[in-house]
Amino acid sequence: MRVLFASSEIFPYSKSGGLADVAYSLPLELSKICEIINITPMYEFIDKDKFNIVPFSKKFSIIFGGDSYEIELFRCIKKGVDTLFVYNNILCEVNSLYGQDNDCLRFGVFSYAISKLTELLGIDIVHLNDWHTALVALVLKKRKSSVKSIFTIHNLAYQGICKKETLESLGIDKSYFNQEALEFYGKVNLLKAGIAYSNNITTVSQTYAKEIQTKEYGCGLDGFLTKYSYKLKGILNGIDTKLFNPENDKVIKENYDIKNIEKKEKNRNFCYEKLDIKDTKKALFVFIGRLVEQKGIFLIMQILKDISKMELEFILLGEGEREYETGLKLLSKRYKNVHYIKGYDEELSHLLYASANFLVMPSLFEPCGLNQMIAARYGTIPIVHSVGGLKDSVFQDTKKCAMGIKFDKFHEGELLKAIKKALNIFENKKNYEKIVKYNMKCDFSFQKSAKKYFDLYKKILKKV
Ligand code: ADP
Repeated sequence: MRVLFASSEIFPYSKSGGLADVAYSLPLELSKICEIINITPMYEFIDKDKFNIVPFSKKFSIIFGGDSYEIELFRCIKKGVDTLFVYNNILCEVNSLYGQDNDCLRFGVFSYAISKLTELLGIDIVHLNDWHTALVALVLKKRKSSVKSIFTIHNLAYQGICKKETLESLGIDKSYFNQEALEFYGKVNLLKAGIAYSNNITTVSQTYAKEIQTKEYGCGLDGFLTKYSYKLKGILNGIDTKLFNPENDKVIKENYDIKNIEKKEKNRNFCYEKLDIKDTKKALFVFIGRLVEQKGIFLIMQILKDISKMELEFILLGEGEREYETGLKLLSKRYKNVHYIKGYDEELSHLLYASANFLVMPSLFEPCGLNQMIAARYGTIPIVHSVGGLKDSVFQDTKKCAMGIKFDKFHEGELLKAIKKALNIFENKKNYEKIVKYNMKCDFSFQKSAKKYFDLYKKILKKV
């Protein structure tokens, strides 16, 4: 079985969020049980020398929508996993992964290149991820290709919506502009191609698979997804337990395991030194994430005044929408125990996971979420809104992993109550340490999920 795993971002080459982490760790795990090749864009900002990325094969052209696009391929092998990089100037001459006016065309180029490579590389199954590669399923269908496809939805909120006219430049016939195919309220929706034309659809948690078929979480596609629910399945993500391992993490100050969790304090002291925070022994709460509505950042901002009167420190690391960034900057100036660090900082995030006592994750919706799993691994107790993958990976007792604090209603009062509950837990040292140790033993590795994907690949191929 030969699998091509296609993603618009793969850690460590490019990353905007959890998709890159999954596109790194899932193929790594799958490579132990089947032949797998990654494919991702060769964005210009990726440092080829640093990662030892080298040219691979001859240039070739792909033609669609009356235009020809030149493709160059690059390659890198890391930890036994082969990654191919697709270069085309429209796709790759950018400073950030997304947010260009021509994103649909950019990832159209990527999708046609992937489709062509499925033939050239003798691929059996192409694993597509999110809207950026969804068009591949349609292109394969149009070409009556024997290559099967599986489409994973990591976040339904991003759908690749563009003007009606884009259809022509993407080389897609007008007959696909109807509600049963790519039309979405008078526009083109590329994600719909993955839903309608792939052999199987997965989402990154079981609860999210159910949620997206409801009006509340369906982002306008609940009816469409319900139609295809017979091929939709939820498989919970995992994390790379080697990359996220307090025992030998190179970027934290002091390594530790369940036998010496007191070393978390040394990390915290170092973290305070680094961030110029007055050293205190109070409980440390952290938030790490993109500053967008999804992450419930507004809820946090609403309770910061109450937080300022509580015995705790709160560090928030993230970047995103300007109003949140400005608001947090202001509030962190106003309140002594609130500290906002603007930016995306992989190393600092590790140090925060290692230093903190609690992770605050009040997401409005959450397909899976990785932070709560990473936090558990570093002995940091998650506080989560009980939704999507958070519902499936955080529990209020020790029957299942991880143990944390959950609240059901998305409301600032509920979050505040959860934080007070956390402080009570923190005061009872014995109980607190019991939870920390329990969480550090949780198995959030990708092994189980990789096996489930592998079984699905086999099932799809058997159906032929
Ligand atoms: P999403 O994909 O919706 O952004 P996930 O929880 O699935 O959220 O994954 C987020 C990943 O990105 C985690 O590895 C998290 O630690 C990391 N991350 C998010 N924001 C930052 C940041 N500002 N600095 C460092 N790492 C971050």
